[in-house]
Amino acid sequence: MNGFRIGFGYDVHQLKEGYDFWLGGIKLEHVKGAVGHSDADVLIHVICDALLGAANMRDIGYHFSDKDPKYKGIDSKILLRDVMKFIRDEGYEVGNIDTTVCLQVPKVNPHIPAMKTCLAEVMSLPESSISVKATTTEWLGFVGREEGVSAYCVALIYKV
Ligand SMILES: [Zn+2]
Repeated sequence: MNGFRIGFGYDVHQLKEGYDFWLGGIKLEHVKGAVGHSDADVLIHVICDALLGAANMRDIGYHFSDKDPKYKGIDSKILLRDVMKFIRDEGYEVGNIDTTVCLQVPKVNPHIPAMKTCLAEVMSLPESSISVKATTTEWLGFVGREEGVSAYCVALIYKV
């Protein structure tokens, strides 16, 4: 492997009653869901941003505008599949990604295996290349007040 590059992604979505809660490609059962132009999957969005950043290809909002009705309510897995195509078309492959979801409730940990399976399928990568971690913020800040969910991702890509 040569031509290593790293990328970083950060994103936040509001949580409100009456919305679906998509996270890491799966739907969580919860009284609140994430608000956004797309399906508001914060974990997939940070993965897209980290990959695009690593390839120096701008960000998710640049490629999939939240003003474009085409992306209203769109399944973020479609966006991630597109991003993987963008970076592979530039000659890159993904080494690994490492992510952290910040959410007070519900517990993310029981869902991590299903998220990894889903993300591996969407990204055409082995599950061993995808790390999903979760933390609360100890009831502090907007995450602690259950007003929102945030996530971080770092990604390593390399020229094939
Ligand atoms: Zn987002």
